[in-house]
Amino acid sequence: MIKLRMKRGIHPKERKISSSKEIQEFPLPKRVIIPFSQHTGKPAIPIVKKRQEVKTGEKIGEASGFISSPVHSSVTGKVKALETVLLPNGSSSLAALIDVTGEDVLAEPTWPVKDISSLTPGEVRKITREAGIVGLGGAVFPTSVKISPPEEYPIDSIIVNGSECEPFLTSDHRLMVEHAEEIFKAAQLLKEVIKASHGYIAIEDNKPDAIEAFEKLVSGLEAWDVVSLRTHYPQGAEKSLIKVILNREVPMGGLPFHVGALVQNVGTLYAIYEAAVKGVPLTKRVVTVTGDGVPNPSNYMVRVGTNAREVLEAAGAELDNLEKIIFGGPMMGLSVKTPDIPVLKSTSGLLAIKRAYRGKVYPCLYCGRCVVVCPLQITPTRLVKYIQAGMWDQAKKFGLFNCMECGCCSYVCPSNIPLVHWIKYGKYMVRRMETK
Ligand code: SF4
Ligand code: SF4
Repeated sequence: MIKLRMKRGIHPKERKISSSKEIQEFPLPKRVIIPFSQHTGKPAIPIVKKRQEVKTGEKIGEASGFISSPVHSSVTGKVKALETVLLPNGSSSLAALIDVTGEDVLAEPTWPVKDISSLTPGEVRKITREAGIVGLGGAVFPTSVKISPPEEYPIDSIIVNGSECEPFLTSDHRLMVEHAEEIFKAAQLLKEVIKASHGYIAIEDNKPDAIEAFEKLVSGLEAWDVVSLRTHYPQGAEKSLIKVILNREVPMGGLPFHVGALVQNVGTLYAIYEAAVKGVPLTKRVVTVTGDGVPNPSNYMVRVGTNAREVLEAAGAELDNLEKIIFGGPMMGLSVKTPDIPVLKSTSGLLAIKRAYRGKVYPCLYCGRCVVVCPLQITPTRLVKYIQAGMWDQAKKFGLFNCMECGCCSYVCPSNIPLVHWIKYGKYMVRRMETK
């Protein structure tokens, strides 16, 4: 086993209070709301109509471009309506409202289901595309595109990302403990597809049971190593992992394939296994429900489209007594105004907070702490000054779009300056101007 740690970043309190809670199947909801935009790229195009009956796993939205992904019904039921709904990031999307009419009747998969070891690279790409598989670590980038890098960029290393460095979240941890074999089989499959010579399974050392499970699986295999990472944030970000494990730097504006690497989250690998071996598209995911406003912190296998309100209430959250609800973790998650938002493919956790910390904002002290912790060596205080002044070209030059929005700079700022919020605002403004 290899032991490593990242150099910059922070170590917030881990608060993994649900880490010993086994994954429970969340009860079948009465209705699901399935947005057609749940991934990076163009939204899917609806292929169902009002009152149409659909089966579990049936495709209801078709990918609309190379960087796009289909969406599937997570239940057996009838389409009640096609409506615009609110998403966790504050934007909106057309969605199918599907009323459940009974127990699951599974749709026939639209890809070949056969022995996993006999699948060709082309078939694996087709499966990931047709099954609507996207990166479940947060980026929701279509997996079929990610595993098809340009030929001039050969990949030599695959990194299985089981870091889960965000405080509170334990969905990946539980998947690794309960489904290590399935995850590893899918990782071996992808290693063959991209022709990588070596594979690394990266897990932070606050998950010793997951490390042990994978150590057993790679025992005797020369092409695989388990990497035990000293717990640190944001070590699980792709660029951080590549730097720590391979000592390679993804260039500004570049992608992992530019440095010969592919990083795959463990949840995504589990979804690939389910699609390849069982013919089931991505219609469920593990969601950690946690926070000081949750009496029974839990890990649920939740159907995509389930109302977050139902999931929070199942874990005992008193929604009227909460100050904050976050989709995801406390560092990179999205704070929402209402719990009536569907669980998406990207929803790794629901965080219910009774008392949120809101410190008074003071002027910058030029202490440099934000610079010291930034994993991408951006100078956040300077970048934010350019954004506040509307100096967009300068902001871009100083790494506006290189920022991974990890929030380390805001976390350490003694003046409570919401640096990452300013950076998100800057990105939004520049994108808006550039699309006009
Ligand atoms: S500037 Fe971006 S990448 Fe750097 S610490 Fe702040 S949020 Fe993280
Ligand atoms: S951490 Fe805060 S106070 Fe210190 S330099 Fe950065 S923005 Fe200024």
